[in-house]
Amino acid sequence: MAERSELIRSVKGTRDLLPPETRLWQRVEDEARRVFAAYHFQEIRTPVLEQTSLFARSVGADTDIVSKEMYTFQDRDNEMLTLRPEATASVVRAYIEHSIYNQGGVHKLYYMGPMFRRERPQKGRYRQFYQIGAEVLGSDHPLIDVETLEMLVLFLERVGLREYNLLLNSVGCTHCRPEYVKALRRALEGVKASMCDDCQRRAETNPLRVLDCKVEADQPMIDKLPRIIDYLDPECKQHFERVKAELIQREIPYQITPRLVRGLDYYTRTTFEITSGALGAQNAVLGGGRYDGLAEMIGGPPTPGFGFAIGQDRLVLAVQQAGELGTGDALDAYIAWLGEAAFAPAQKLARELRREGFSIEISPEPMKLKKSMGIANKLQARFAIIIGEGELKGGRYQVKDMASGNQQEVGPSQIGAILRQKLRYLSAPAAVCTDSDE
Ligand code: ATP
Ligand code: MG
Repeated sequence: MAERSELIRSVKGTRDLLPPETRLWQRVEDEARRVFAAYHFQEIRTPVLEQTSLFARSVGADTDIVSKEMYTFQDRDNEMLTLRPEATASVVRAYIEHSIYNQGGVHKLYYMGPMFRRERPQKGRYRQFYQIGAEVLGSDHPLIDVETLEMLVLFLERVGLREYNLLLNSVGCTHCRPEYVKALRRALEGVKASMCDDCQRRAETNPLRVLDCKVEADQPMIDKLPRIIDYLDPECKQHFERVKAELIQREIPYQITPRLVRGLDYYTRTTFEITSGALGAQNAVLGGGRYDGLAEMIGGPPTPGFGFAIGQDRLVLAVQQAGELGTGDALDAYIAWLGEAAFAPAQKLARELRREGFSIEISPEPMKLKKSMGIANKLQARFAIIIGEGELKGGRYQVKDMASGNQQEVGPSQIGAILRQKLRYLSAPAAVCTDSDE
């Protein structure tokens, strides 16, 4: 016998998502598709691999993402490639590459999929993680920002995340931000010597990044730095005022957070983050904002944009903690057949019910009734359908409700209708009951 080799494990910071938890992930994705479609967003799928320069130029060379978190390698033909750390740059690249802007008007796109950042793995922070995001390209109107936030709020409500904070800020534009950065540099001159090493470096290279420093000892100093909203030019100010007024109009509460500048260089004007107390240290569930200059940074025509990215790993965690969405799906029915003669009709019934979309399990081996019921219980089947000698003779099968123990005799052709009637009632948890025909 060959000796057993050492077990190969998954890569640090990556993880396997297993059932029943994957069902929760699917529900979140289904709900996103449904809500986004209601706001007329369409799906875009871009590659996981991109040229390194795409992120270096858009996200910004001095950001944590580009300077230390990207998975970058030289391909065999010497091209520098990167596993995408985020997808906004890719979506804008695709928009330009396929000249979608030529069609005119506003384009609303959404995506979902894995992103890669080489961070220190911990709860809510992984090296392969998942984002669900959306982008609106082609308009700088403040109502675009508000409508997209309204959609997000509906989505969070639908997946059952009720306790959260919307943090809001404006980071100005290329016209007014330089003034602010100057003031920030000036203020930092006085305090930077007592700040962390990263901040000392940032104060030189990219002072805005000081504002999202997470080192405890630096916080009191950061709180005293000048605030970007005091430096907005009249257009940026007006834009921000409209966003705030319209959020109030729609009864969407927010919290102005002057330090919120986000970790990417491409943001302009509105920036926001949604945090959830259920999450602990990694409390940002999603983030986003406006990026009116991004398209030009990567060689495209001027194209205003607004978007967000939801951290799906963290959202699922928060929703789990809030006790919403339950765990995996139970099995609709387990078919217990007793004696060889029952196999063919049992198999036929299983096939028919499966074609109707029910989730059905059936054993390939004959089994005693007691053992079958044990399995039905273990699989959390909502119904057991029992087909024994007596049932075969009478042409009616036993349909047992596993929760109540109630049992009724039903002709095979009626079983689908009975299940549909009972499962319809069972399978619509309040948090996700959104079928419009209900
Ligand atoms: P953080 O401040 O937590 O590092 P971020 O500002 O880097 O977040 P974004 O780039 O705005 O995050 O990404 C949007 C969302 O993606 C975040 O709010 C978070 O929910 C999620 N996210 C970002 N990085 C990770 C990661 N390494 N693991 C899991 N989720 C992540
Ligand atoms: Mg980060």
